[in-house]
Amino acid sequence: MRTTSAYRVLVTGGAGFLGSHLCERLLGDGREVLCADNFFTGTRRNVSHLMADSRFELLRHDVTFPLYVEVDRIYNLACPASPVHYQHDPVQTTKTSVHGAINMLGLAKRVGARILQASTSEVYGDPEVHPQVESYWGRVNPIGIRSCYDEGKRCAETLFFDYHRQHRLEIKVARIFNTYGPRMHPSDGRVVSNFVVQALRGEDITIYGSGLQTRSFCYVDDLIDGLMRLMESPPDLPGPVNLGNPVEFTIRELAEKVIRLVGGRSRLVEKPLPADDPRQRQPDISLARGRLGWEPRVALEDGLRETIAYFRKLLAE
Ligand code: NAD
Ligand code: UDP
Repeated sequence: MRTTSAYRVLVTGGAGFLGSHLCERLLGDGREVLCADNFFTGTRRNVSHLMADSRFELLRHDVTFPLYVEVDRIYNLACPASPVHYQHDPVQTTKTSVHGAINMLGLAKRVGARILQASTSEVYGDPEVHPQVESYWGRVNPIGIRSCYDEGKRCAETLFFDYHRQHRLEIKVARIFNTYGPRMHPSDGRVVSNFVVQALRGEDITIYGSGLQTRSFCYVDDLIDGLMRLMESPPDLPGPVNLGNPVEFTIRELAEKVIRLVGGRSRLVEKPLPADDPRQRQPDISLARGRLGWEPRVALEDGLRETIAYFRKLLAE
C-alpha cells in the first residue's frame, strides 16, 4: 500500500542530464522514483549511483509508445536537448515530443496524476521581445533545421493546455532556458560542455559565428529546484513558467571565462553559425519569483568550476 507522504513519481528521460539530477533530488525528498528512458542521449551511468536505493526503478522505455504504470506525478523530460542530437533524427524528435506528450498525458488522465512538461526557451525562437516573457508568442521558423525541436515542443504545450481545458488535467509547463552542469554528455555539442571539454584537452574553442549572440546559463541545481517548486505549486498555476538564470553573456564571454578557469592555452576559432541560431536569449523570471519564490543562486563562475571538475575527472578516466 502506498502512503501519501511517499508518492510515486515517473521521470521520463530520467537517465539524461537534467533527469538524473531530478531523480536524485526526488529520492532525497523521500519519493519513490520510476525512471523511464530509451537511452538515446542518457546513460545508465548517470543513474548508477541510485540503483542501490529500493525506491528507485529504471525502465527502458520509449515514450512514443504507451506506458501503463501507477504514479501520482509525471515529469516529462524525455527528448534530446542538444541541437546535434535532436537534428540527428528529426522525425523521431518530433515524435518524441508530440507522441510522447500524448502518451504521457493519456497516462496522467488514466491514473489522475499531475504532469509537468519540460518545455523550452526555444518556443520563443529567435525572439524580438527581450528579455522573453511568458506572454510572448515567439518567432519560430516552422520548416528549418531546429523546427523538429521547437515546433515539437510548441505542439506539446498545446496538447498540455488542451488536456487541461478539455479533461481538467492538472498540468505544469516549465519553459527551461539553457542549463548546464555535471552529467552533460561530453560530446553533447552544447556550448558549455563543448567549451569545457575543448579547454581541458587544450584544443581550439569553437565559436560559431561572431560569438556576439547571447545566452543566459542556469546551473542544474537551481533549475531542478525550480522544476520541483513548480510541480508542487497551487493548481491555479499551470504555467507556462520561465525557469532560467537571467544573467546574460555573449558566447565569446563564456569562452573567455572557461579558458580562464581551466587555465589552458586554447585559442578561440570562428566556425560557421548554424541556421536559425537565436541571436539573444534571456528569461524574464518575474512569474517564477512571484509565484514560486524561486530564483537562481549559483553564479556562472561557481557553476562552471563544478562542471569543469566533473569533466576533468571524466576525461581522466
Ligand atoms: P538529455 O539529452 O541529457 O536528456 C534527455 C533524455 O531523454 C535522455 O536520457 C534520452 O535518452 C531521453 N530520451 C530521448 N528520447 C526519448 C524517448 N523517445 N523515449 C524515452 N526517453 C527518451 O537532455 P537534458 O538537457 O537533460 O534535457 C531534458 C529535458 O529538458 C528535455 O525535454 C529538454 O528538451 C528540456 N530542456 C533542457 C534544456 C537544457 O538546457 N538542458 C533547456 C530547455 C529544455
Ligand atoms: N555554440 C558555439 N560553439 C559551440 C557550440 C555552440 O559557439 O561549440 C553556440 C551556438 O551557436 C549558440 C550557443 O552557442 O549560439 C548556444 O548553443 P547550444 O547548442 O548550447 O544551445 P542553444 O543554441 O540551443 O541555445
